Amino acid sequence: MATALTHALMALPFAPRNHDGKVDKGLLVLGAVLAMAPDLDVLWYRHFPAGHWLSHRGLTHSLPVALLVSALAALLVRGRGRDPLDLRPAVYFFACLFSHAALDMVTVGARGVALLAPFDDGRWLAPVRFISAAWFSPRRALAADNLAILVTELRWIWAPAIVVFAVHRAMYNWRAAAPAAGAASDQDPGRG
Ligand SMILES: [Zn+2]
Repeated sequence: MATALTHALMALPFAPRNHDGKVDKGLLVLGAVLAMAPDLDVLWYRHFPAGHWLSHRGLTHSLPVALLVSALAALLVRGRGRDPLDLRPAVYFFACLFSHAALDMVTVGARGVALLAPFDDGRWLAPVRFISAAWFSPRRALAADNLAILVTELRWIWAPAIVVFAVHRAMYNWRAAAPAAGAASDQDPGRG
């Protein structure tokens, strides 16, 4: 795993926005929880042999489970002032869940991710891996080696994520500042 904080941060760059342009904090918080949730397998993985689909980075990290959980989470938040047919929350939640598996796949010194569990036990890793796997134990969360991992993540994950968030926000504000569709305009309708 990357550190839990870094997994949670992955909910930020494409956080959904309300009609007023502000980030929907409810969806953002749920997205952050979902981005960390796959590591709940720490509760039971020791009961299964390495490589089992219920061991660490198994079922909870898979794409089928991400699809199912994102659909359920979207149903949960349906009706919060959004069009019930709006699929964006489901897509956002899926991206948050998948970001967890994607980050785990670029970590060094850990088993691959069972992307297709429970249908396939195969484990997957990215061809390029550049983050050391972090410790689960809260007692080691502040250990020097865990903090060193966090520093690496700050450089290679946090910084790009914050840039993407800033660009996303700037683009949204730019779009919001443009005249609404159908609004009166002084543009000559005969011009392109
Ligand atoms: Zn994980």
